[in-house]
Amino acid sequence: MKKVNFSAGPSILPQQTIEETSKAILDFNGSTLSLMEVSHRGKDFQAVMDETIELFKELLNIPQGYSVVFLGGGASLQFCMVPFNLLEKKAAYLNTGTWANKAQKEAKLFGEVVEVATSKPDNYTYIPKDYTIPADADYFHITTNNTIFGTEIHTDLDSPVPLVADMSSDIFARVIDVSKYALIYGGAQKNLAPAGVTFVIVKDELLGKVSRQIPTMLDYRTHIENGSMFNTPPVVPIYAAMQTLRWLKANGGVAAMEKKNKEKAALLYNEIDRNPMFVGTANKEDRSLMNVCFVMTDEYKEKEADFLAFTKEKNLDGLKGHRSVGGFRASIYNAMPVEGVQALVDAMKEFEKKNAKRQYI
Ligand SMILES: *Cc1c(COP(=O)(O)O)cnc(C)c1O
Repeated sequence: MKKVNFSAGPSILPQQTIEETSKAILDFNGSTLSLMEVSHRGKDFQAVMDETIELFKELLNIPQGYSVVFLGGGASLQFCMVPFNLLEKKAAYLNTGTWANKAQKEAKLFGEVVEVATSKPDNYTYIPKDYTIPADADYFHITTNNTIFGTEIHTDLDSPVPLVADMSSDIFARVIDVSKYALIYGGAQKNLAPAGVTFVIVKDELLGKVSRQIPTMLDYRTHIENGSMFNTPPVVPIYAAMQTLRWLKANGGVAAMEKKNKEKAALLYNEIDRNPMFVGTANKEDRSLMNVCFVMTDEYKEKEADFLAFTKEKNLDGLKGHRSVGGFRASIYNAMPVEGVQALVDAMKEFEKKNAKRQYI
């Protein structure tokens, strides 16, 4: 039986994505050739690119005036591409985690960076809310879901300057109003496809305003003008992304995902809050729908390794927490069925029965 995959990234994908992509790797569209060995400029792959972009636009309700491009380099390359293309003098960053911090660090190479707020002194357990965004900043950068620390910005923020968001780990997980953002980017390997492709949704009018020279490959306009085919795009991850988006559409779209994600997250957080052996690490109101971080209470701290071994016996995989938080992290992305979350909750209950030092009322 396949293990239940709670890994943070690369992470669980719809079985349909894995199967359909496998088929295309063996025989792409009945051509007898592999998806991996045909020209990206052939009409069959062009159709894949077109449909993937179309599904992005449809499922996220992307307004006119925005482009969708697929690039290499991961979300990490966007940490530098964003300031390269948008930072003339000053940019504002909200420092909510390791990735946000890395993005901000990179921007400093290009101009003045204002950190509007940070939760770093509290090990990023919450999302700061009380801060002022400088009105003269070229943009304001946020990380909507902090994959490592399990916090999430649950609303589309108001910003007096163009809003840029790293949505690597919560894209398509909740309904967003794209018109409130100037640029959204993310690596595919958390909620969409295997690693190797990065999506960028960008408001066209924002580009071409900085005075510096931008290397061709790092200029968003190059990729917009060439339909993400200036150079060879990562064809297999793009094909897989198309399959995931077909699956998502057939399952009711983003609104249906959001509803399901809230139910799954509530199921797990309720057990963490109820079970006397466990405690959540993130501030309750900022708890991520995607990455659920928890540890054992001080009383049971020495049982963490035992619990991890116990989950492995139960066929639950990838639950070890990131080293900067410790304990456990259950990543419950779109493709995680509610039954997977239930299996973890059952394991927590069973572990409590076997190991709790006393009866709790
Ligand atoms: C995983 C992750 C990244 C890094 O993505 P790469 O594609 O590996 O560069 C950046 N931001 C967030 C929020 C992530 O979860």
